[in-house]
Amino acid sequence: MLDVSRLPPQLGLNVADIAFIAEFSYHKPGQQMTAFPSLKILAVCDEVDSRLYGTNGCAARISQKPDLLVSCGDLPPYYLDYLVSKLDVPLYAVHGNHDAVPPLEGSEGYNRCGAHWLGGRGIRTDSGLLLAGFDGSLRYNSGAYQSSQKEMQAAVHSLVPWLLMNKLRFGRFLDVLITHAPPKGIHDEPDRCHTGFDAYNWLIRAFRPRYHLHGHIHLYDRRAETVTRVGETEVINVYPFRELELSLPEVA
Ligand SMILES: [Zn+2]
Repeated sequence: MLDVSRLPPQLGLNVADIAFIAEFSYHKPGQQMTAFPSLKILAVCDEVDSRLYGTNGCAARISQKPDLLVSCGDLPPYYLDYLVSKLDVPLYAVHGNHDAVPPLEGSEGYNRCGAHWLGGRGIRTDSGLLLAGFDGSLRYNSGAYQSSQKEMQAAVHSLVPWLLMNKLRFGRFLDVLITHAPPKGIHDEPDRCHTGFDAYNWLIRAFRPRYHLHGHIHLYDRRAETVTRVGETEVINVYPFRELELSLPEVA
């Protein structure tokens, strides 16, 4: 259950209103809940993987064609462009801390790679999936796509009205959270650049997405944990790619 007492007061929302929205269900007594056919997601991040790119890549290396692509950042536009063209499915993406920011050389490619950019916003896809995303990592130098803990907290809080409206309209807050960095203390590392964001822990506990997909943490040890359950959410490091399935509830 959403703990309304922990919602940020600066949102200016009445606690009683929030509680009503949080507990409101579009599922009325007598209605049957059915499921959409499951949606298949191919998520990528951080490294151009030869199993997906180039001769004998992609189609031969994934078990089935996905319904959508997700990028968790730090990938060149040519790779994203290739995957979109090859698979002919929509791409939803956030930027990593190494991505070129406009107007730097190389950034223009991102505008043409066919991605829907999710940095700091949420969208409902044509297939009805509720996605939200946040760019970058914890600030460690003056580069682009970096935020302090406080800045990321503010960005996450700004999405709360959209999340509450989703609950009211669609019966759930969020299906998939897409970020570059991980939550604090989950798959993250002790150095400043690879420390996770506190705000993501709060978001997944309060709004319970099915998945939180992130990148940023390169894996060199096969024993490293890459999937961690937090309440109803599976937090997954998708490095360098991962195939997932998801069923959405629907009122019959
Ligand atoms: Zn990174």
